[in-house]
Amino acid sequence: MKLLLILTLLINYLTAFDYELEPKKISATTHCFFGYSEVMDEHNNGNMSNSCFVNMGTNYIVIDSGPTYSYAFQAYEKMKMIKNLPISYVINTHVHDDHWLGNSYYSELGVQIVGSNGFSSETRVAITRMQQRISPEAFLKTTQVIPLILVENEKLLDVNGTTIHLINVNKKAHTSADLLVYIPKDKTIFVGDLVFNDRLPSIRDGDLKGWTDTLEVIKSMDVTFIIGGHGKIVDRTSVDMTYNYIKTLQEEVSTLLEDGEDISDVVNTVVMEKYKDTNFYDSMHRQNVEIAYRMLEWGNE
Ligand SMILES: [Zn+2]
Repeated sequence: MKLLLILTLLINYLTAFDYELEPKKISATTHCFFGYSEVMDEHNNGNMSNSCFVNMGTNYIVIDSGPTYSYAFQAYEKMKMIKNLPISYVINTHVHDDHWLGNSYYSELGVQIVGSNGFSSETRVAITRMQQRISPEAFLKTTQVIPLILVENEKLLDVNGTTIHLINVNKKAHTSADLLVYIPKDKTIFVGDLVFNDRLPSIRDGDLKGWTDTLEVIKSMDVTFIIGGHGKIVDRTSVDMTYNYIKTLQEEVSTLLEDGEDISDVVNTVVMEKYKDTNFYDSMHRQNVEIAYRMLEWGNE
């Protein structure tokens, strides 16, 4: 029996996917694992979004838990090699599955999981996009554990005497419920997918004006680090690409819409040359123009 158990563990260990995660030091307190600028597939196994750890003195907090149980397990193992601290909270910035399926690992450790009020029992689906696209080995043990503590407006967490502000954006921006994690002491704000800086953002679930208005508020804050859900830029310029792209998209599409152009012409006209070499341009830009047109057309009626 014991031998069987050892064999099972050994097989599990040998077949598990190694994400080869490397924590990058951002500041005295913060490390992030940066995902690849790719779509989720059976090669990256969902490692295409960011997950960050903040050392609060005697504990860590984790912002976004990554795409799978095994990713979360491996990330925490790497962090324990830097400093072996327990985790007091995992915070999920929004409902897209590359940012929270790692909750399944942290919940086993008994960590409290906090999220935007965009989460509900309806967030759970029969089969997630992640499970459909990555390898079964990498997805092993991953279940859909949604946060138990949901933030309606603003919630303050006190960890070891440091105040963490959890701020619900309360308007549609990247999604209809995006959560900001602001740590004044560290002059750091985690903004989830309001910021992409290595690829074009998908605007599918968002709102152009809500998104740029929120980024303007974030840019006006007294922070040194603005850490997004995708991309490795973490200083104040991290916001620029997403902000400029969405602002230009909104302006160009609005102008043509007011001129009475129809959607097919607008999709062909709003090329936004400047972004041609940005990752995901080919797969996403035309679709974004189309979505922007429908969004703005609706808003004008
Ligand atoms: Zn997202």
